[in-house]
Amino acid sequence: MKHINHLINGKSVEATSGRTSPVFNPATGEQSAELGLASVADVDAAVDAAAAAFEEWRDVSIAARTKLMYKFRNLVEANTGEIAKLLTAEHGKVLSDAAGEVARGTENIEYACGIAEMLKGSYNENASTGVDVYTVRQPLGVAAGITPFNFPAMVPLWTIPNAIAAGNTYILKPSERDPSTPMFIAELFHEAGFPDGVLNVVNGDKVAVDRLLDHPTVKAVSFVGSTPIARYVYETGTKNGKRIQALGGAKNHMIVLPDADINLAADSAVSAAFGSAGERCMAISVLVAVGGVGDQLVKAISERMSSLKVGDGTPSSEMGPLITGEHRDKVAGYVGQGADSGATIVVDGRDVAFDGGGYFLAPSLVDNVTTDMSVYTDEIFGPVLSIVRVDTYPEAMKLIDDNQWGNGAAIFTRDGGAARAFQDRVEAGMVGINVPIPVPVGYHSFGGWNDSLFGDTAMYGPEGVRFFTRPKVITSRWPDPATSTVDLGFPTND
Ligand code: NAD
Repeated sequence: MKHINHLINGKSVEATSGRTSPVFNPATGEQSAELGLASVADVDAAVDAAAAAFEEWRDVSIAARTKLMYKFRNLVEANTGEIAKLLTAEHGKVLSDAAGEVARGTENIEYACGIAEMLKGSYNENASTGVDVYTVRQPLGVAAGITPFNFPAMVPLWTIPNAIAAGNTYILKPSERDPSTPMFIAELFHEAGFPDGVLNVVNGDKVAVDRLLDHPTVKAVSFVGSTPIARYVYETGTKNGKRIQALGGAKNHMIVLPDADINLAADSAVSAAFGSAGERCMAISVLVAVGGVGDQLVKAISERMSSLKVGDGTPSSEMGPLITGEHRDKVAGYVGQGADSGATIVVDGRDVAFDGGGYFLAPSLVDNVTTDMSVYTDEIFGPVLSIVRVDTYPEAMKLIDDNQWGNGAAIFTRDGGAARAFQDRVEAGMVGINVPIPVPVGYHSFGGWNDSLFGDTAMYGPEGVRFFTRPKVITSRWPDPATSTVDLGFPTND
């Protein structure tokens, strides 16, 4: 059985806790590896390594850091197929989807290759006569990232490149469900030539997270996961004086107006609801059909669902299994609760039987959903699409306004005025106009509103660089010492 260790100071290090966690292949249900879980001492060793590395890394030139980042980028791109295979074997998403995830992660390395632009700072000559004032952005020191199971390549790459290119050293605590992908990416990082200790990976659970949140040397923690844990990480970390950004869960709505192209809307809804088995924080889980388009949409969506191929990650499949058997059963339970509370189960994924021990569940379409049903109120994180029917656009908007989360929101329409009003007023951090999954490109930033993000900065892009740096303002003058006098007045700039 494969055993997975930590990666600390460039070396594979065994966990000292004596505790382990099994890693499964969700397509077969078989255990594929055993993961050593960190003790407090293991986290401390990683922090010590990162702190020691910071003293040298902070002084490495931007040019040298950038060259290493280019090498890392090229290695990740060259190994996309290998990363995708590892990812599929532990997460379950199909290979093409896994490769897409790696490509979107690579965008963030590419952005960090241009870190020189972001670290330019600003300069005012003669702010006062003979006095210059300038601002530089400096690294924080040791930073940490805690990541979820659903994007084991992309989400670690949301933060590692910017944090490290900006001069920080880093500790990644990946999900214990699919750790092989981030471990392999960390190996590529070292192969690129980065010094030992600049990136460390500590595998673990709450013990590791709690130690990262209270270790005095860790200056910033970037978290992505479910809302209850995001809130906990934000509250605990900020109480301990750390800079925290904690991205949480979601319930993304897609409004379809009566003038929308029905085929485009149906294609988009099916792709965005069932891609990666609905285990995406930007998945569409609620379709809001406005003013009588419901019947047409339900027909078009269910036709498309009938030909979806659910299976293991091979190229012939379009949708893979869920992450665990327990999660599959929970998701199926929501379909049952929807039926019990009066919703119409148009397509019931529970009806499809699968051979073998994999955690498969076919997609479900649930119509006539109302806002009091658990299928609407909860983040399901599985292949279940709810349809809510409303008469008017304001009613559709109110659904999003009243929702606990605000990660993504989309509108499908041919009316530019309606789309513009939507982008202006919608309560969500990322907005799609005829785009169902509006994940921003690497040179913008990713982050939701409300209970989808705790903290003040979004992730990656310019906001990511701001998160991992702090400004320092320098006021400087070079007067002739002969003109110097004592002056107890408060300095003005006239
Ligand atoms: P999770 O919250 O269970 O785990 C996330 C991380 O927190 C993991 O590293 C895990 O080890 C750690 N963790 C779990 N329980 C903990 C505890 N009690 N104390 C401290 N740490 C703990 O999330 P998940 O199931 O891995 O991922 C799915 C969730 O992540 C969904 O809710 C999804 O919406 C969300 N997500 C959000 C975004 C976003 O950008 N907003 C992106 C991806 C996933």
